[in-house]
Order: sequence, then structure tokens, then C-alpha cells
Amino acid sequence: MADVAFAVDLGGTNIRGGIVDQTGEISHHRSVRTAVRGGVYAIIDQIVTLADEVFEEFGSRDIAGIGVVAPGPLEPKAGIVRFAPNLPGWENVPLTRLLEERLQMPVVLGNDGNCAALGESMFGAGKNVDNLIYLALGTGLGAGIIHQGHLIEGIAGLGGEVGHISIDSNGSRCTCGGIGCMEAYIGGWAIARHGEMAVHSERSTLIREIAGEERISAEIVAKAAKQGDPAAIDIFARAGRALAVGIGGLVNVFNPELIVVGGGLARAGDLIMEPFRSGLAHYTMVPIHRHVAIVPSALETHTGVYGAAANVFYQRPDQLTSI
Ligand SMILES: [Zn+2]
Repeated sequence: MADVAFAVDLGGTNIRGGIVDQTGEISHHRSVRTAVRGGVYAIIDQIVTLADEVFEEFGSRDIAGIGVVAPGPLEPKAGIVRFAPNLPGWENVPLTRLLEERLQMPVVLGNDGNCAALGESMFGAGKNVDNLIYLALGTGLGAGIIHQGHLIEGIAGLGGEVGHISIDSNGSRCTCGGIGCMEAYIGGWAIARHGEMAVHSERSTLIREIAGEERISAEIVAKAAKQGDPAAIDIFARAGRALAVGIGGLVNVFNPELIVVGGGLARAGDLIMEPFRSGLAHYTMVPIHRHVAIVPSALETHTGVYGAAANVFYQRPDQLTSI
């Protein structure tokens, strides 16, 4: 039985790929700029070329499967990318079928949050931990839940959309169309928007000053907060509390051992993590809270590749499907 996977992280900027073994060793890693303007088939060609190069270098095609992490709303079990905001022309693309036809190997598709949760539980901060919640604090709020050793996937593989749990029936509108989603407070886009609102209402001058001619981003709001701007500090405090409310609910339900936190915005550090930690104690039951630790991601730079490989080892397409 093959004990390696070929993992592909399809992003709007780069396509990364490599061989990953079951201990989490990455080899034959390579990266190409995504041919965004070429449309679906140009990108499929890129993945196929990358795979052929890697297999030739690796000297074998005996692998457990090809794992692909792709952006956008996607249906992992159907193997379809519904829509990818950073990849023009990607609508209802049957990515799994297209790659299987070209490469004659089983392909498993996964969303970034769920795959990263599997990656952390196999190779990262949650190694040998059967109960964890993974959070990626980025432009959105990505997440995945591993419960009793199993990924929470649901009927179509769409489960684990933690960021779109509503925590306020009268709250802000989210990009998903929902009201009061956690992401509408903690997502990078939401922090940037709250930063703009603070500038417009003249609660902050520092945010505008730091931004200059640039568009206000979450990073700029973080800089202002680190320099002591009260409005910016408050934006992060509210974001951290919002996260605590939603995750507190999940902690009560799943009784996890670990919450693993990754993503670019996690670098805001205590600005978010302190209100999150202290809030979590309020929004979870005491005996359950006692069991849970909050730790940083251990995978960061190669999260997508690790996640795609972990998804292959978890789903074992070589033992299930026939091509
Ligand atoms: Zn939402």
C-alpha cells in the first residue's frame, strides 16, 4: 500500500505541489505562478505538468492519491469547485473528474479549513489529538473540526463552516448573505471595514494616518492598535469576543482538547487572542473549559500542502474508488 500522497495547494497566486509521506515529510516540492488569466483549462494543464514533473523526479506513480486544496465554495464529495473568487471563470468546475481523467489517479478535493484541521491533527500542533478545532484567522474565518478522530464533514462535505455561525440576530451582514456571522466580526475584511467606519465616524485619526493613500486593511488597523489607538484596539477586542462566543458554543458541544489557531491575522497576537481567551472562559461551561488548550498552528507556510496530503490519508481514495 502506497504511503505517500501527491498534494496540491491551488491558490489564486501560486500552485504548490509536492510528495508528502505519512510522517509529514515533504519532498519534491515545487511552486508555479497560477495562470489566472488562462481560465480553467490552463490551470488544469499547470497542475498536470507539475504532477508529471514531480512523479518523474520521485521515480514512481505508486501513491495513495492526489489531494487538492482549492479556494472558494466547493463541494468536496462531488469534486466540484462551485465558485472561486480569485480564479476568473471558475464556476461549477468538476475539478476532481478533470484531473482524474488526465492523471489516471484518484483525486480528493477539500476545502482549506477542513484540510488544515486534518493536517494539524496528523502532522502539526494536534498530532495524536482526536478532538480539536482548527481556526484560520485570515481574510475570512476558516475552520475545521475533528471530533473523536473524525472530520466533521456532513452529507456533502460542506460541514465545519464555523465562520458562518451567527452570533447576533441583529448583527452585521456577512459576505455569505447571512446576518451576524462570526466572520463579519473576525474576518480580515470585517476588521478592515470596521477600521473604515472608525475613520468615517472620526473615532480614529491614527488609522487614516497609517493608511495614507492606501486602502484600510486589517494589517493597518492592527498597526494602529499596537500604537495604542483606542478605536482600533476596540475593533480587535470585539473581534476576539465574537470569536469566543461562537467557539464557546462549539467547545460546549464537542468538548475538544485543543483549539489550534493559524492564519495571517493570528499575528495580531494578544490584540485578538487575549479577548478570545478571556471570553472563552465566559462562554463555555467550567468543567468543559478546563480541558481545552489554545495553541498556535505548527504548519503555517505549507498548511495547504499538508492539508491536501492529510485529506488523502484520511479519505484513502486508493482503497475506495476505482479509476
Ligand atoms: Zn457568513
